[in-house]
Amino acid sequence: MATTQNKDYYGTLGVKKTATSDEIRKAFRKAARRYHPDVNPGDKKAEEKFKEISEANDVLSDEKKRKVYDQVGFYSDQIDPATAEAYARQQGAGGGSRPPVDFDGFDFSGFGGPGHQTGQPAGAGSQSWGSFKDIFSGIFSGSQQPQQRGPQPGTDLEYQATVDFWTAIRGGQARLQVNRHETCPTCHGQAHTGGVMQCPECNGTGQVTQMGGRMKFNIPCPRCNGTGRTSNTCVTCHGEGVVSRSEAVEFRIKPGTRDGQRIRLQGKGNAGVNGGAAGDLFLIVRTGTHPVFTRVGDDIQLTVPVTVPEASLGAKVDVPTIDGRAQLKIPPGTQSGQKLRMRERGVENAGRPGQRGDQIVTVEVVVPTLQDERSREIMRELARLNNQDPRTALFDKL
Ligand SMILES: [Zn+2]
Ligand SMILES: [Zn+2]
Repeated sequence: MATTQNKDYYGTLGVKKTATSDEIRKAFRKAARRYHPDVNPGDKKAEEKFKEISEANDVLSDEKKRKVYDQVGFYSDQIDPATAEAYARQQGAGGGSRPPVDFDGFDFSGFGGPGHQTGQPAGAGSQSWGSFKDIFSGIFSGSQQPQQRGPQPGTDLEYQATVDFWTAIRGGQARLQVNRHETCPTCHGQAHTGGVMQCPECNGTGQVTQMGGRMKFNIPCPRCNGTGRTSNTCVTCHGEGVVSRSEAVEFRIKPGTRDGQRIRLQGKGNAGVNGGAAGDLFLIVRTGTHPVFTRVGDDIQLTVPVTVPEASLGAKVDVPTIDGRAQLKIPPGTQSGQKLRMRERGVENAGRPGQRGDQIVTVEVVVPTLQDERSREIMRELARLNNQDPRTALFDKL
């Protein structure tokens, strides 16, 4: 069985074990400036060194991780801090006279799993050790099944797509620039290149031995996730299996598409990994506005100015509609603000072709600015003949 050496993170960063978090941060920055790959292009040694100091910093700069590291002698995400502490206490209570106990070959990986056979460690008869399982059952939490990267479906994407007023009404093609994950062209989504080979870290066993104080124990190999097999990570996608791309997506807009409507483009979301299906692309349509027409659902609203004689006497006036000019009958005695409905002059319904909304015209009576004495005389004459007080109703309600 291969053995991984416990790493001396303090030595790597060149700080004392009693270093404060500030000292650790400074030491890391100093080392990082020196070994950063950008500063040492093509220098493999510097790259390795940079990885080492990054790993050391990752553990030592995190208070919880550092505590575990100090107690057990190495760090793994699978270690539960409470158990690490119990372990450290147990180590202290164990006394110096006890010979080092070698648990080499003992498989901890099944602890916590149901129905898993538990072994008896050497020295388990000693009372001061307590229950072996009590100490270690929590160190590796969760089951340690080798992580097989099976097919993973791609995630869905959601974008807002603005289409102009007329395209939304009449339908047509629209385009949108979308950032999406595409299957990596180098590894075809496999995340690795070349064949699968035996993991050099664990020599294919899937397990490595790590020292915890005076004890050795086996953990799943971090390089191959306990599978014993590994392959070269694809350099194009850095093992993601996908790359990010900006792509122009074309889509069809149905006639009558409303603001806020969702369009689903199947398989146009992010690409999946390892043969997983691509996600979908959801477009939320935002329809543009128009200077004259206001769209409310399938109805079109607009304001039409009319003269006093037109409103008073009634008239037929030309008004704009989304299909061009149309005649609107103004009934005699139409008031400003009154709404007139033009049936089926609105937008065709996207879901029910052939069915149209209405056009709703708000009448705005335009009062003439009188320029000459004759017109003013006619207006006075009109007032005398129609001696109405439009404010009577206001006072009646007081
Ligand atoms: Zn391995
Ligand atoms: Zn790739």
